[in-house]
Amino acid sequence: MNGRFVDLHTHSTASDGSLTPTELILAAAASGLSGIALTDHDTGGGLMEAKAAADKAGLRFVPGIEISAEIAPPATLHLLGYFIDPESAALQRMSTILLEGRNNRNPRIVARLNEIGCKITMDQVLEIARRGNADNRAVVVGRPHIAQALLESHCVASLKQAFDVYLGMGGTAYFDKERLTPRQAIDCIHDAGGLVILAHPVQLRAQNHAHLQHLIESLIDQGLDGVEVWHSDHRPQDSEWLLSIAKRHALVVTGGSDFHGSRKPDIDIGLGRKNVRIPERILDELEAARRTRMGAGATAPVKEQI
Ligand code: AMP
Ligand code: ZN
Ligand code: FE
Ligand code: FE
Repeated sequence: MNGRFVDLHTHSTASDGSLTPTELILAAAASGLSGIALTDHDTGGGLMEAKAAADKAGLRFVPGIEISAEIAPPATLHLLGYFIDPESAALQRMSTILLEGRNNRNPRIVARLNEIGCKITMDQVLEIARRGNADNRAVVVGRPHIAQALLESHCVASLKQAFDVYLGMGGTAYFDKERLTPRQAIDCIHDAGGLVILAHPVQLRAQNHAHLQHLIESLIDQGLDGVEVWHSDHRPQDSEWLLSIAKRHALVVTGGSDFHGSRKPDIDIGLGRKNVRIPERILDELEAARRTRMGAGATAPVKEQI
């Protein structure tokens, strides 16, 4: 690989990726990346392990998180937090609320699946979520684990079918989970020392550019720091448009694959679905934005151990 590239959006077994944090870092190093952010859903549980592995492998590392905030369907609003302090009280508080939302929702999905003839159990789902976790603890249990249970029980022929028929929005076993409002989510990430980046803005499913611009500007008013310009779901013209909006509003820009290992087998680490690579300069700029923010005294202090 010529030049130096990074991947700023990845998941591990601490949430719904299939690689442990250590395996993820080794995969990043093996594919020639020079830096990576771990952005598990709702938890910083994999960050310490990933940071240690990254130090060992000589990779630059950004501790991150991805959280889902309230928005009217069919939109999906995910926010990435970068440089969060995994030990901060703000992060712990936020994780507790988000995990409770999952714990309320997941059994409802499984009960509905049973009603319609897909005989899987919560124990089976938890066992899948625990796989690969060193302490054998299921941290964040999500729909991809339920999809895997459906696959292993031969209720579906693929993970995609599990989402298309049952688990995706509009599916027969779809249930929403309790979330934070965008402002609460932004404030929590800031309180945990992080920068807030709008993940995969195309998933907001805006009707047109004017609508998307309006949604982004409303998030900027609530404290948004930047947008994810490059992502596996983005077409080149999406990224181009997002870059122009980011320039206009002096937003931080980031990019990443949303790698989930075998849970999303069509996404490669560092490349995504479309062989799009993120130059290391984007990580330099993200770090510069963090320094500016800290210099401005706008956030709680970030512990330097991670
Ligand atoms: P959860 O956080 O438990 O609601 O699950 C979210 C995870 O499911 C994320 O990794 C999503 O990318 C994945 N996901 C959501 N919808 C789909 C879909 N239609 N097909 C495949 N994966 C999906
Ligand atoms: Zn995921
Ligand atoms: Fe996401
Ligand atoms: Fe993600």
